[in-house]
Amino acid sequence: MANDIRSLCVYCGSSDGYVASHITAAQDLGIYLANNHINLVYGGTAIGLMGAIANAVLTNGGTVTGVTTEHFHAAGITHDGVTQSVITPDMHSRKAEMMRHSDAFVALPGGIGTLEEVAEALTWAHIGHHGKPVGFLNVNGFYNPLIQMLDQMVASGFYRREQRDALVVAATPEELIEKLRVAAWPDVAKWVR
Ligand code: AMP
Repeated sequence: MANDIRSLCVYCGSSDGYVASHITAAQDLGIYLANNHINLVYGGTAIGLMGAIANAVLTNGGTVTGVTTEHFHAAGITHDGVTQSVITPDMHSRKAEMMRHSDAFVALPGGIGTLEEVAEALTWAHIGHHGKPVGFLNVNGFYNPLIQMLDQMVASGFYRREQRDALVVAATPEELIEKLRVAAWPDVAKWVR
């Protein structure tokens, strides 16, 4: 059965990065979400790729759920134009809220924060904590080294092939959403008790 994706969680850099196509990719995904009536769930600030995708959704008539912490809010970097704003006491409850509001999770180019967030979404899928699809928008091969690392984990017996194969890697917003709609995690009941 296809996954009904009405709300997409996007993890991405809180910096602009050095490569203009990374910002363009965030904007393109934002436009795609707005045009396809998919709500954006993200970290709620106005900076870096995070701000770029939120602005692209909003200026194209879409809706955005921004989930930020009291700490970031006090620092004055909360995006004040989002459709729905959620402010949490700490990073742990922020990630839980982002997960609760979303039907799928994707990573765009970003740094350690992005990596940590998508790794948690993957880990929790692997133990059956949620069954929602997880993917990477692999802009210009940005995630190729990580994908290679994941394949090394499979080859070394630390990562199940079925789980590796169930994570989505796509080059464009269209391909990403299409693949997320049909992605399915293997039944973890035989591994996790
Ligand atoms: P990074 O990829 O290291 O830039 O971190 C981006 C992710 O980590 C975002 O999705 C946020 O949830 C979180 N994060 C880290 N630093 C910040 C920041 N200064 N403002 C907002 N979110 C941040």
